[in-house]
Amino acid sequence: MEESPVQSVSEPSGAVAEPVVAPGSNNAAAELDVIRQRVAGCTRCAELASTRTQTVFGTGNPQARLVMLGEAPGADEDRQGEPFVGRAGQLLTKILEACTLQREDVYILNILKCRPPGNRNPLPDEAANCREYLDAQLAIIQPEYICCMGAVAARNLLEVDTSIGKMRGKFYRYNDIKVLCTYHPAYLLRNPSAKRQVWEDMQFLMAEMGIELPEK
Ligand code: SF4
Repeated sequence: MEESPVQSVSEPSGAVAEPVVAPGSNNAAAELDVIRQRVAGCTRCAELASTRTQTVFGTGNPQARLVMLGEAPGADEDRQGEPFVGRAGQLLTKILEACTLQREDVYILNILKCRPPGNRNPLPDEAANCREYLDAQLAIIQPEYICCMGAVAARNLLEVDTSIGKMRGKFYRYNDIKVLCTYHPAYLLRNPSAKRQVWEDMQFLMAEMGIELPEK
């Protein structure tokens, strides 16, 4: 297989880099639960902590090779406490199934663990406040790949200011993790014609991961 272009991106300078739990443990689920409990009581973002129904930590395989990263919980997620369970989440499930994956095969999480009121974008301070938890999750899961869904996820993780359209089609690197960026499923609900591009991105990612896809 032809080697994929990997573009390095330096580690974000403003992030709280110190993981809460040391990586390398074989008890990833228990370690994630420790962080989950900390997140459940977190009040770092006063507005979000006072308006959320509950925190939305993440779900899936604690030792997944692939992490699917979105921006923040919406109303359905806030109600149910699980990421990507609304209409966009159902589309994500279908995208994964087209890649021969179940939700339980990957780990699904967001930049923010609390719903911004009115589904506004996360504020920079909020993303910075929550970064420690995201980095702790990644340190425990130790995925080989992250798929950033949407500009908010991509820009926050990689600390770039580029449109998703320009970031597609190549791998970035976050620490030792290869990162691919594509459109958010909610964008696909508004712009169904972009499904073709997301499918191309997922085919690219699956080929890199060595996952064979059935002929369509
Ligand atoms: S978004 Fe993250 S940092 Fe902010 S209150 Fe929620 S859990 Fe805490």
